[in-house]
Amino acid sequence: MGSDFEYAAVALDHARQPRNLGPLDSCNGHARITGSCGDTMELWLQIRDDRVCRVGFITDGCGSSLACGSITTELATGRTVEEAYVIEQKDVLDALGGLPEESRHCAVLAAETLRAACEDFIKKGRPLPENEPTPPESCDICDTTSCSAKQRQQEESDKEFAERQQLERRMCRIRHKILVLSGKGGVGKSTVAANLAVSLAEAGKKVGLLDIDIHGPSIPRLLGLERQQIGTTEQGMLPVRMTQNLSVMSIGFMLGNRSTPVIWRGPRKYGAIRQFLKDVLWGSLDYLVVDSPPGTGDEPLSIAQLVGTGAQALIVTTPQDLAIADVRRCVSFCRSLSLPVLGIVENMSGYVCPQCGRKTDLFKAGGGKALADETGVPFLGVIPIEPDIVTSGDGGRPFAQEHTHTAAAAAFADLVSAILGGHNETTPLSKHERRTSV
Ligand code: ADP
Repeated sequence: MGSDFEYAAVALDHARQPRNLGPLDSCNGHARITGSCGDTMELWLQIRDDRVCRVGFITDGCGSSLACGSITTELATGRTVEEAYVIEQKDVLDALGGLPEESRHCAVLAAETLRAACEDFIKKGRPLPENEPTPPESCDICDTTSCSAKQRQQEESDKEFAERQQLERRMCRIRHKILVLSGKGGVGKSTVAANLAVSLAEAGKKVGLLDIDIHGPSIPRLLGLERQQIGTTEQGMLPVRMTQNLSVMSIGFMLGNRSTPVIWRGPRKYGAIRQFLKDVLWGSLDYLVVDSPPGTGDEPLSIAQLVGTGAQALIVTTPQDLAIADVRRCVSFCRSLSLPVLGIVENMSGYVCPQCGRKTDLFKAGGGKALADETGVPFLGVIPIEPDIVTSGDGGRPFAQEHTHTAAAAAFADLVSAILGGHNETTPLSKHERRTSV
């Protein structure tokens, strides 16, 4: 390593006394990667019952590579393969207390080598030889003995119990779940869901975006992911990683021909949504944003019932009376399911002429705020009509990132700040240039 001055004590310690240095005699996950800097890292995993019990590594790189490899082995040990798989550069850097700019690629190399070793295990699925050490207990998420995942329900078969445990364990690793709902279609619900997920990820949160609109999944198109394919493994489905912090899963990735309509009845939709929640390898997330179809039908009902604790509804509406009547129903729907409402957002609220600056309320204005007052639900702000939203969406690019100078992006940044503030989290969104606030 270069000058000691720049390094945190943890980084120095791991560089000078790297843990788990050296190959393992037997392993069931292995990878060797040469990074862009020319350094090579090789990593061995011993995995039993889906949990990493030992890790070994070697590198021909400098002290920073040693520190990154060493801390990565510690981060991975004891985790499930799914959790180890999503360890990334930021986790490595955070655990080391940071590294100088010129050494950060070593953290990428360590995280990528770990991910490749996990993939090797996932693809080949080899068991370990019998004499290898036993891993820790399988569910270590919490000590609560009364947790429903630990209690078999009456008349629940072994298979049903195991599946419910799997679902609840996965949901348990997600701190906040935001179900984006709307009373009717075309009000901008998917646009809000996609841009919310992107903005939360940009604010440093680990985010999953799940699109369960079986009849019209639009998230792949809005985010330019239409050609993406999801990976399937014995452990579950791998979501599409859009950025380091954002993973996306859409029913659209699985539907094949997009011009063929999906004709599914309620139980089949429930089954598909349950499988999505149970089988997608999200890992630990700060936020899962769910884009649900409009209305109060099978899909919103299924997701609200399945997603478990920490869920809140974000209701998107346009200001006119017709939309507001549907939102009233949406609020009642949430209340009947004891689903807390995070708030109402009024989208397409007024159009400001770029030539003369005059505002025209094409769909009226104030309906969302009035309904929020009437129902006692928080009002989270208004997003104006913005033609750039349409062009960004059609082009598969998130408008909140692409058009940061617009009033709509500023309104959106305020919405994200309000959500993070409500969850007592900080946001670096102040970098957005703002013309107006909501
Ligand atoms: P929903 O999910 O409610 O059906 P979408 O998010 O698909 O709605 O949006 C419908 C259309 O409206 C899309 O073409 C989108 O680009 C556009 N749109 C959404 N919000 C705005 C806005 N504030 N200004 C202009 N166009 C918008």
